[in-house]
Amino acid sequence: MTAIKALTAPVPPGGTIGILGGGQLGRMLAMAAARLGLKTHIYSDENDAPAFQVCHARTHAHYENRESLSKFARACDAVTFEFENIPESAVSYLAGFKPTNPGAAALAPTQDRFLEKELVNGLGLRTAPYINVEAPEDVAEFARLGGAGILKTRRFGYDGKGQAKVASVEEARGAFAAFKNAPAIVEGFVDFAFEASVIGARGHDGSFAAYDPPENAHEHHILRRSTVPGRLTPRQGEEARAIARRIADALGHVGVLCVELFVLGSGELLVNEIAPRVHNSGHWTVDACEVSQFEQHVRAVAGWPLGSPARHSDAAMENIIGEEARDWQVLAARGGALHLYGKAEIRPGRKMGHITWLKNSR
Ligand code: AMP
Repeated sequence: MTAIKALTAPVPPGGTIGILGGGQLGRMLAMAAARLGLKTHIYSDENDAPAFQVCHARTHAHYENRESLSKFARACDAVTFEFENIPESAVSYLAGFKPTNPGAAALAPTQDRFLEKELVNGLGLRTAPYINVEAPEDVAEFARLGGAGILKTRRFGYDGKGQAKVASVEEARGAFAAFKNAPAIVEGFVDFAFEASVIGARGHDGSFAAYDPPENAHEHHILRRSTVPGRLTPRQGEEARAIARRIADALGHVGVLCVELFVLGSGELLVNEIAPRVHNSGHWTVDACEVSQFEQHVRAVAGWPLGSPARHSDAAMENIIGEEARDWQVLAARGGALHLYGKAEIRPGRKMGHITWLKNSR
């Protein structure tokens, strides 16, 4: 398989969207697809993937299993993924069978923190200062970062995993060794005023639609709360949308993507991270927008026109993390729109659900 299968016509209602990954994002994508009359086929390497509970068909297999991948692709009309740590080779392979979006070209730079930073800076957008670390001697440049930094493995990090705060060359060297000399970057520590993100969708025809950017608060490296509107000014909101579009266009992205931002006291926006998928900081769009990020992604990958991202309410979304989910009866009685992900096991730091609070319905 070499040629990439392009989408020549929209997937009609009754068609099947294949989704690699079966977590809560896949689950909410499947629920949005169902509302549009589309079926979903979830492919996950986990036996009890939350998305398996709400889909039409499932495959439980490794992401490297070519036989399972080709069988899956044959059963779908278009394919997408719900998280970026699936092997790029799986996405390239599937693209030879069925239209697969976002494609491997959009996925690859977002799987590697160094390539991602290079891409963003290459577009004239700003990030924290960084150095690429492939060998212990590379951290010698640490002074360039302003005295405090975070060493992050280049690949397979999320929710703070594979990260360590470092305040000297010695600490950076120690952290590099602690992560078994895995290729890494060291980023300068950013003294931001607050964090924000922008979620946008790009269609097959290059059309683009972005949501109002939420302000995000993290606890222990995990998203705790997204609030919209947040402290971004309307002008910063416009700038954030323009940043997302610039990146989506450069990647030739099709589908939803999220750009996480640091907002400096000076008002400047720095790009922290790109997620080539629906994102936790956009969960409020289900309850507060005409068309949610999940429906928008399904529309994009199925070749449908993008929907309106217009927001009809102000919203605050709070994650339900780990043990907090035990109190589901209390949560259910608190008001707000409760979403639980159907995860069988509670684990520390695991995202179990969220609540969206709406106000000022317009
Ligand atoms: P990341 O996995 O890179 O998105 O990092 C998770 C969180 O850690 C971010 O949302 C920030 O709250 C914090 N963080 C990451 N990188 C930096 C940085 N260079 N300076 C300050 N805080 C950071």
